[in-house]
Amino acid sequence: MEGQSRCSEEFYRHVAQTSDDPMGLEIDYAEGPYIYTTDGRHYIDLISGIAVSSLGHRHPSVVKAVKEQVDRHLHVMVYGEYIQKTQARLAGRLTGILPDEMDRAYFVNSGTEANEGALKLAKKFTGKSEFIAFKHSYHGDTHGSLSVTGREVYRDPYKPLLPGVKFLEFNNEEELGQINEETAAVIMEPIQGEGGVIPADPDWLKQVRRRCDQTGTLLIFDEVQTGMFRTGFPFAFMGYDVQPDIMTLAKAFGGGMPLGAIVSSTDIFEVFKKDPPLNHVTTFGGHPVSCAAAEATLKELVEGNYGERAGIIENKVKRLEDIDKVTEVRGKGAMLGIELSDPDLTRFVVDRCLKEGVILGWTLHSETLIRVAPPLTISNETLETALQTIEKSIEPQ
Ligand code: PMP
Repeated sequence: MEGQSRCSEEFYRHVAQTSDDPMGLEIDYAEGPYIYTTDGRHYIDLISGIAVSSLGHRHPSVVKAVKEQVDRHLHVMVYGEYIQKTQARLAGRLTGILPDEMDRAYFVNSGTEANEGALKLAKKFTGKSEFIAFKHSYHGDTHGSLSVTGREVYRDPYKPLLPGVKFLEFNNEEELGQINEETAAVIMEPIQGEGGVIPADPDWLKQVRRRCDQTGTLLIFDEVQTGMFRTGFPFAFMGYDVQPDIMTLAKAFGGGMPLGAIVSSTDIFEVFKKDPPLNHVTTFGGHPVSCAAAEATLKELVEGNYGERAGIIENKVKRLEDIDKVTEVRGKGAMLGIELSDPDLTRFVVDRCLKEGVILGWTLHSETLIRVAPPLTISNETLETALQTIEKSIEPQ
């Protein structure tokens, strides 16, 4: 195309595309809540790469930790063989803020890989193979995670997937009887993200836990999106006071570097060690540079009172509910969804805000929801600018 940069030309010609209509921003650099493009523009990033850069882009303590680790060593051996300082310290710091039973973490590369491992762990520990998942859930795009993802359009092209998976209605207590003695695990997001930012009802979640206990079923919380202070708590389960047997993490966990984790108890993880050993090997899982970034991120999030900050962001964004065409603002902390009255308006607002320099999110499963997940470090002033842009796009004067 005329006037296209070389880089853009190569992107459109040689990078495999995942949609017909990519946003196509040519990134120059990113700093704090801003993304700067090669055409000299800058954007307020109100979605943080979909809930990834919770400390903003290139937080100084994360960059410092990465640089220090790069100067020491990169990859040395598949996880589990060598004692690597950044992995060990991260595992200690992470389990240090978790309940006593959640005393071990196994590091992988991504959210979907963490969920694959969690499903395998539950199967091997319980000796059972059936799973319960929920409609509108999203757990990732590899075969196992896709098998428990609750949207047919994404699953259908890849069938047959894992057998023995049932999808229940989220927040519906009448269906919980389907969790039975054959169920290895229930896998769920405490707040469904891609499904439209739908929080679990607190009483219902307690009933899920109870039903799992009655039937010898493990409860897996996918906290890939809800973890790392995004909902105002270190992990969303803490706000619900319902503890999972296995938790999965990714996205914000790596502070902008690729990293996922499966977190569980010593007892449950025991089955990954034997018959045969090396049950879930991953060459790059727990990469030392990613672990360095994650440790710096976790330290900063814990010490910086970011839970409170997430609550402040929630209160500010919720004022959008006063606009007529906004039917609801839902979610918790800085994981929010703005429900609009129709799909055309939703598309218009997302496009308009982009033109005005504000990047908003969408969800894979809803055409009327705008998703907002700003960096927790965003200043009140920058957030105000972004909110005014959204308001003007919904109700142009
Ligand atoms: N679980 C949840 C709840 C997610 O939101 C996502 C990503 N959107 C995943 C799993 C998959 O994570 P990844 O893209 O790192 O594989």
